[in-house]
Parts: sequence; C-alpha cells; structure tokens
Amino acid sequence: MTATVSGPQADQAPSARRGSYWITTFGCQMNKADSERMAGILEAMGYTPGVDEHTADLVLYNTCTIRDNAEQKVYSYLGRQAQRKRANPGLTLVVAGCVAQQEGESLLRRVPELDLVMGPQHANRLETLLTRVETGQQVVATDEHHILEDITAARRDSAVCAWVNVIYGCNEHCTYCVVPAVRGREQSRLPEAIRLEMEGLAARGFREVTLLGQNIDAYGRDLPGITAEGRRAHTLTDLLREVHDVRGLARIRFATSHPRYFTDRLIDACADLPKVCEHFHIPFQSGDDAVLRAMARGYTVERYRRIIDRIRQRLPDAAISADVIVAFPGETDAQYRHTLDLIEAIGFDQVNTAAYSPRPGTPAADWPDQLPEAVKVERLQELNALVERVAAERSARYLGRREQVLAEGVNPRDPDQLMGRTRTNRLTFFAADPGDGRPYAPGDLVDVLIETVRPFSLSGRPLGRQPVH
Ligand code: SF4
Repeated sequence: MTATVSGPQADQAPSARRGSYWITTFGCQMNKADSERMAGILEAMGYTPGVDEHTADLVLYNTCTIRDNAEQKVYSYLGRQAQRKRANPGLTLVVAGCVAQQEGESLLRRVPELDLVMGPQHANRLETLLTRVETGQQVVATDEHHILEDITAARRDSAVCAWVNVIYGCNEHCTYCVVPAVRGREQSRLPEAIRLEMEGLAARGFREVTLLGQNIDAYGRDLPGITAEGRRAHTLTDLLREVHDVRGLARIRFATSHPRYFTDRLIDACADLPKVCEHFHIPFQSGDDAVLRAMARGYTVERYRRIIDRIRQRLPDAAISADVIVAFPGETDAQYRHTLDLIEAIGFDQVNTAAYSPRPGTPAADWPDQLPEAVKVERLQELNALVERVAAERSARYLGRREQVLAEGVNPRDPDQLMGRTRTNRLTFFAADPGDGRPYAPGDLVDVLIETVRPFSLSGRPLGRQPVH
C-alpha cells in the first residue's frame, strides 16, 4: 500500500530543489549498497554531494532496525532535521531502509516534516518517489515490491572494492530477526545481470567484489530451472563459477552465509577458484543446541563444527568470522558457556557480538523469559574479551609471513601509510612509498611482509606489486 498525503511542498517549483544531498547510512552492507545506489540516482537527477547533513538540501537517512539502539539513533537525527525543515521548508527529508519499512505511515505522525518514507525494496525507485514529492505530496512507499534491475550507476564509496547484491530479502524465520519483515521475501538477481555489473566494475578499475545477500546460500532458490541431476540450476556455487573469469577483478568475496544451507560443493568451489578469497562469514549465533532451536536457526552445533572442519580440510588457512547473540530469552549460564566453548574450540578470526534485543513483530520479543540488562552487559563483556583473545591468537600466525594485500586507501591515522586487507580479510597497514620513486596506490595488489600483529589488524613492509589478471 503506497499512501500519498498533500504536504508543505505544494508551492515550491520542482527545479529549485535540486541542490545538494546528504545520505547517512546505518547498519549492514546491504544498506551501504542501497545507499550507494540511491546516491547514484540523486546525482543522475542533478543533485550534488553536500558537505554535511546540516546544510544539504536533501537529507536521506538509510536506517537499520536490527537492534533497538540502532532504531533509536535515527529519531535523534530526525528531531534536528525537523527543526531545520520548519525554518527552511525547501529542505527535503527522506527516511529509507528498515525503520521506514517497519514504521511506515506512523513515521509521518511522529515526524510530520518528513517528505518521503521508503522501504528497502523501493531504493531503486527513489527518482519516481521524489518526483511525486516535488508535486507537493508526502509519500510512503512500503508495499511489497519486485526489485527491478537498476541502470543507474551507483555512487560507490570505494574505487577499489564494490558491493554487488545477488539476492534481496530473506525467507527464514529466525525468532529474533526483523529482517524478513522489513526486507521481504527472497528475490535473486539473474546471473547475467550480476555478471554484467561485475564486468562494468572491472572495466572501471574495481579490483574486488563482495557478493551480498542476507542469506546468500539461498541464492537462486526463487529462480526457475532444475539440472539433469535434479538440483537447482542456480546456486551460489554456480554463480561463483559463472562470474569467476571476469577480467580485471582480482578478488571475489561473498556474505552472509547460513550454516543450514552451506554445502561441501560451495567449499570445493572456493578451494578451486583462485579469485575467491579464503574468508568465510558464517554466523552461528549460539553454541547451544537448545538455544539454536529456540532461535529457529535450523542447524546444530555439531553441523556447524563439521562445516568449519570441512573448510579447514580444503583451505587450512581460511579465516572464519561469525555473528553471535548472547542473553537470548531463557539462555541459562550453562548454555551461554557453550557459546564461549564453541568460540574457543573453533578459533574465530573475528566475531561480531551482540546482546539480544527484542524487535517488534518477532516471536522471541513476546517470550516471558527475557533476561535482565545486567546479565546482557555482563555476558557481552566476557564474550568480547574472549573474542579479542582468540582473534589475537589467530593473528599471531601472520607474523613473518608475506601476505597479498589489496590497497584500498590511505590510513586515516597516518597519511604516509596505505591500508587494505589480506585475502583472509585482515586489515593491514604498510608504507605507501617504498622510496623507489613508484609509490603504491589504491588498487595495487601488494606483497607485504608482516612485521606487527594485533588482534584485528596487521602492519608490514611492502615488498612489491603483484600482477592483476
Ligand atoms: S537468516 Fe535469519 S538472521 Fe539472517 S536475515 Fe534471515 S531471518 Fe534474519
């Protein structure tokens, strides 16, 4: 249902409003990719990048609702902008992303100064929706929508690494998660469209692509076609094989994986395909089977461990990262300790940690055995200390090794340094100018001798460039 209400914009001539824009993005890589596409659309409409959100003519907040604190953040920003709008009616105020989808019309009641409230599925339709705002309407676009391929070139934050969406939405029912409700059902892009986008990126000098999906292992589930062997014609494994030979791209990554659907076929493809980097992001969420059942994750701790063992058989040095939630409703201290045990046993390179946060419309939010805030804080602190210790143990293996690092940009803390990541996704810093008159630059594949290790980053001495095929 798309609602339109006549708003304070009616008397403004459309052309006067194409000034500067500012986008603030909250949340995950999917939101970052959506913001890059919306920035591309705004620039195609004639808007120019603004210097900050306090002076821009159009301000867009691309929001996240994965946890309560993420959601609350946007309201403080909107309060300030509403004040600006009352003083400057020509300002255009847009809320996009998951809070927009979750709240819809009620956001207009809460912030009447808003011009446009648009869910993630409508990111590609920003021009159409703004054109309606320019006629004086307040627009809410949160209806289920088939995401069309967009032709507008995204305005990407990096000139070296790019996000490429391969599947939108999620059909899972994890009892704590708001994503299916705010991002809708799975919609896979066609492999040809994905390859075309990657060829375009390579032609523009991008060196690395990360294929994105909330549950990327579900890629192709909604696309027609069954192979002679009776399996789906389109899977993530097939996609990796179909896009691997795009010339000019040095690296391919993908996220986010789901242990329920992770296959040996995928592991073998990652081991066989040289451009696919040795890093797997596979959220496990809990180290206890009873908690995993309550979360409706659809796998056991044993299955998860088998996946990691299989990866390490084929790719012994692969980096494993994950997401975990502690203090889920009813989680006992013993069950929590199973989570700590799993982290210790697996030896993760990185774990994104969070305490359970009840989300509107999710089953677990209404369960009686919610844990007190003090328990959440205590478990999170102990967990973060363990994650850092284990990450430091994992980082130690790099000391004295030569690592291929893709230079992504200047170290914001030291302008004489470049920063980038190893194939195993470890952030690495090195001197930009080796003093031979050929300083390194973003986009270079650099051979770096690792001399310093920290829990989550490395430093080293550049030894030379590597060719890009
Ligand atoms: S797989 Fe589960 S946690 Fe991940 S986006 Fe889907 S519902 Fe949420």
